[in-house]
Amino acid sequence: MGRAFVYVIIGGGVAAGYAAHEFVKNGVTHDSLLLRFNMLFILVHLQVAPYERPALSKGYLLPEAPARLPSFHCCVGTNGERLAPKWYNENGIELILGTRVKSADVRRKTLLTATGETISYKYLIVATGARALKLEEFGVNALDATNVCYLRDVADADRLVDVMQSCSGGNAVVIGGGYIGMECAASLVINKLNVTMVFPEAHCMARLFTTKIATYYEEFYQSKGVNFVKGTVLTSFDFNADGKVSAVNLRDGSKLPADMVVIGIGIRPNTSLFEGQLTMEKGGIKVNSKLQSSNSSVYAIGDVAAFPVKIVGETRRLEHVDSARKAARHVVAAIMEPERTGEFDYLPFFYSRVFTLSWQFYGDSAGEVVHFGDFNGHTFGAYWINKGHLVGSFLEGGSKEQYEALAQATRLKPKIEDLGELESQGLEYALSVSQKPPSTRPAEAGSSSLIVEKPLHVWHATAGVIVAASVAAFAYWYGRKRKRW
Ligand SMILES: Cc1cc2nc3c(=O)[nH]c(=O)nc-3n(C[C@H](O)[C@H](O)[C@H](O)COP(=O)(O)OP(=O)(O)OC[C@H]3O[C@@H](n4cnc5c(N)ncnc54)[C@H](O)[C@@H]3O)c2cc1C
Repeated sequence: MGRAFVYVIIGGGVAAGYAAHEFVKNGVTHDSLLLRFNMLFILVHLQVAPYERPALSKGYLLPEAPARLPSFHCCVGTNGERLAPKWYNENGIELILGTRVKSADVRRKTLLTATGETISYKYLIVATGARALKLEEFGVNALDATNVCYLRDVADADRLVDVMQSCSGGNAVVIGGGYIGMECAASLVINKLNVTMVFPEAHCMARLFTTKIATYYEEFYQSKGVNFVKGTVLTSFDFNADGKVSAVNLRDGSKLPADMVVIGIGIRPNTSLFEGQLTMEKGGIKVNSKLQSSNSSVYAIGDVAAFPVKIVGETRRLEHVDSARKAARHVVAAIMEPERTGEFDYLPFFYSRVFTLSWQFYGDSAGEVVHFGDFNGHTFGAYWINKGHLVGSFLEGGSKEQYEALAQATRLKPKIEDLGELESQGLEYALSVSQKPPSTRPAEAGSSSLIVEKPLHVWHATAGVIVAASVAAFAYWYGRKRKRW
């Protein structure tokens, strides 16, 4: 049995949700006169329509008035329309929940689902994201322990909430000092657990924070009761008679009592469907600046994709929501209007919110660092200077305008003559650079030349013509395909 679609998306996360929205915005809907059948098909591994994953480590874990679906389906994270499950149906999109794609054949342009259905596509968008790395991959066994938690999807978050509530007043050990570790540790404290964080690096958020920045956050966490054990790793667990973890053993010989454990040790992109078929890089599917893989019918976006980050001059795989959202919007333009769509010119943007703190980072954390602001107060930051140019910037406790200025200044990559002067100007530097009209203004982060070149109504009209043409071509192609089944 088989069906054919023009556009197929594998994955039901942030990138998939934003791409679906963009297709509909650009005329791919069932009520378009042009369509006789659904054109867009989305295959999702789990039973949940695309949602804003960052909510899981923030609002979802709050003890009071926690965020719950359907309130954070895509695209509320950018103040957009909330795509409840019925939205897909109303817009002629076939959203198949709870169905994993088992295998893919990019040469034949077909997918085989776990239910045995063959799906043909004209264009495939791979948005399979990533999975949380498990302790077993590092030789530590805890598979059956019900009080060891991971956090990647809603099912994980529900489990974490249950375990957390059953352990109130007890001891939680968080393994990992990255985003998941830091955000979960804050939530555990808010839920009245005694928290110890364990990680091998010298300070938290080691891939991004400088020692000075990390010290600020660690001291803040300590003031909330969090204990840090750094420079060592978990080697094994002790279990109680119920099979639950009762203590965590560390390489430095110490033992930490534990009523629950949260693991945040990184992710691995879900590339297995395409290994040996598409070119891989940085652990993900390598795509060009139009987000197109080594097979011209297959595109990849979000955590699974390694794309050229023009501003840093290299191919990178970013594990951040802003990149997934912007790539999703760009890929639809790249597929529907390839001639008019420019390169995906993305300014990396990461953020986090914990306790009353909130920071944003733009660009690249390479080169020399200049700190600025009041590290004993609420607003401080840093600039990264590489080869004489400002390439990255960080700010804690900024206003919307200040963050926007930081983003604009970073995108301009201004030449920095005097690091001392930059330090004394601090945030004022970004504000003044962003206010100066540059002689040649680069495109906004994540925009395409499509958006810059022409007003939106022209794009809609053109997109309509393109949809009409592609439907005609598709009808012919679909007819030919069906004859083979
Ligand atoms: C708890 C948490 C908090 C986060 N907080 C932040 C934050 O504060 N800031 C930030 O910038 N980023 C944050 N992130 C990262 C951000 O959420 C991701 O970068 C983003 O979700 C990536 O989107 P994606 O669509 O590529 O992948 P995902 O959102 O992971 O979606 C992938 C989808 O593909 C499906 N899938 C996989 N394989 C198959 C298959 N074979 N068949 C069918 N479906 C399949 C999965 O089930 C899933 O639905 C957070 C991530 C997590 C887990």
